[in-house]
Amino acid sequence: MAGRDFKIAEPAGGIGRARFKARLRRTWSSLSDLILPPVCLSCHVPMTAHDTLCASCWSGIDFIRPPLCDRLGLPLPFATGEVSLSAAAMAAPPAYDQARAAAHYAGLMRRLIHDLKFHDRDDLTRLLGVWLVDAGKDILAIADLVVPIPLSRSRLLRRRFNQAARLGGEVSRRTGVPADPLSLVRVRSTASQVGLSRREREENVRGAFAVREDRRERIEGRRIVLIDDVVTTGATVSAATRALRRAGAEHVSVLALALATGEGTTE
Ligand SMILES: [Zn+2]
Repeated sequence: MAGRDFKIAEPAGGIGRARFKARLRRTWSSLSDLILPPVCLSCHVPMTAHDTLCASCWSGIDFIRPPLCDRLGLPLPFATGEVSLSAAAMAAPPAYDQARAAAHYAGLMRRLIHDLKFHDRDDLTRLLGVWLVDAGKDILAIADLVVPIPLSRSRLLRRRFNQAARLGGEVSRRTGVPADPLSLVRVRSTASQVGLSRREREENVRGAFAVREDRRERIEGRRIVLIDDVVTTGATVSAATRALRRAGAEHVSVLALALATGEGTTE
């Protein structure tokens, strides 16, 4: 019996090229899996996909779930069916319009943030970016600009990178909301917030931020999402919010990886 030719001709032009590119991508992805097989970002057990956690590590993250206080982003004990505000937000409204965070600053989240900041774990950025976008979907939907909390020049030189700017870049890449890491600056260095009381924290960061005079028009009239890794008393993000408002920002919300509800824990 004569051999039948099962070879199927590749469609000409764009489709053939697209198929070739897809094949190349698949080959590249399996090659890189051979070189760097996917593992859990925390405990390094083998996984089937990159940039994630195994089920056991995942359960160590205390995610913040709705119902939330619309202003502070804190979980509320029950849903009222409309926009809810916590007693804390009503008693002392924050400088910013809204805040959202992915998880509580505890357990594995605390360690991941520490690794991101002090051990240059850039490989965590993609997963943390996914969590930020998920936690901040309502505030990102109305945002014009993503602005990371800046580090002081001396701290930036010491650490070589700003973790908030990395997270902001990732949020921007995933949502298409432009990131602006240049307009908001620290105009003076501040002592570490660790171990300070709420009042001391506010004093420590008062007037620490400003919008660059030559970039004010980028901030004026804009709806801004400020990005930080951890929000503790909110002193830092409140000081940054005031600087953005002085430059004419219309709406300022805060998106953080974690909320620390105990005092003197971080920042
Ligand atoms: Zn794990």
